[in-house]
Amino acid sequence: MGIKLFTNDLKMEKKKDIFNFLFNILIMKAAVLTEKGIEIKNIPKPNIGEHDILIKNEAVGICGTDLSIIRGDYKIPLPRILGHEFAGYIEEKGAKVKNFKIGDRVTSEINVSCGECYFCKSGQRTQCLSVKALGIFLDGAFSEYTVTPDINVYKIGHLSFDEATFIEPLAAAINTYKMSPLQKDHKNVVIIGPGKLGLLVLQVTKLLKRNVIVIGRSHLDIAKKLGADYIIDITKENYIERVMELTDNIGADVVIETTGNSGGIEMGMKIIRNRGLFCLKSTHGLMVPIDITALVVKELHFQGSRCGNFQEALKIIDKIKLKPLISGIYPLDTIKLAINEALKRENIKIIVHPNE
Ligand SMILES: [Zn+2]
Ligand SMILES: [Zn+2]
Repeated sequence: MGIKLFTNDLKMEKKKDIFNFLFNILIMKAAVLTEKGIEIKNIPKPNIGEHDILIKNEAVGICGTDLSIIRGDYKIPLPRILGHEFAGYIEEKGAKVKNFKIGDRVTSEINVSCGECYFCKSGQRTQCLSVKALGIFLDGAFSEYTVTPDINVYKIGHLSFDEATFIEPLAAAINTYKMSPLQKDHKNVVIIGPGKLGLLVLQVTKLLKRNVIVIGRSHLDIAKKLGADYIIDITKENYIERVMELTDNIGADVVIETTGNSGGIEMGMKIIRNRGLFCLKSTHGLMVPIDITALVVKELHFQGSRCGNFQEALKIIDKIKLKPLISGIYPLDTIKLAINEALKRENIKIIVHPNE
């Protein structure tokens, strides 16, 4: 009798083991955004195609775009797994993937492009006519695994996974000046909004040896430490007077708006010089009023820009200070808490660790 019980127990144990084994192979944990908000769910692990790579996500940054989707300002099809600033290990690769091996430490570009259209063929993949961004129109990285095409993947070398989550926003910061290169007479650059992107643009601008004025209400001390020549606290100073004083009453040669709210654009319009360059860096997700008369009369150059080239970001990332930009790290299970923290003005960048 005793022996029978023992073998039954063994059978049960084995069944449990097999169940756990299959569960781990087939299922992953993910933070899924639905109409009701974000929920942690066990969902099927994604399948990969022959040119795809499955990344085991170790670190994912929460970006302003994620927040504007969560707030409902930026509408996307749901349900969706957000998260597009990520890094991890290669867990699986498709039969035709050549330049990578299992276990490589990597990050991925977010735009999955067709390779066939006019823009893809002319080397402008981010403008692909059927582009789908990971974490926006395809599932992203607030999950244990993400599938991405091999053409989007880059090895991160000696960078930590947390540092590697900055490659995407740094590439976007560099792209500001790729889209509209600075001219000789662009001496003063005003950055509005010292958040994560603003502080990255600041550091890139200092590498280009320009005078930088940072305007905002928080993180100004960090902006100063990261190289800002002047900081203007809008809660204490008249920013228009200060900028005019610092630019011989001409106004800013270049304004870079990174706040994600319409007030930032309005501010920029008040301090930009005639024929100045106005760079727009944030996806507002909303319609924003712009003074067209001022734009025409001042003969302004408006330039939008988004994601950039990862290789260029990898080339300069060692010159960029990243640690002061990390405000907190959270496991995936506490993603709601992490998002609440990311929404707070006092925090710069919150990182989620999906496999912790
Ligand atoms: Zn982003
Ligand atoms: Zn295309």
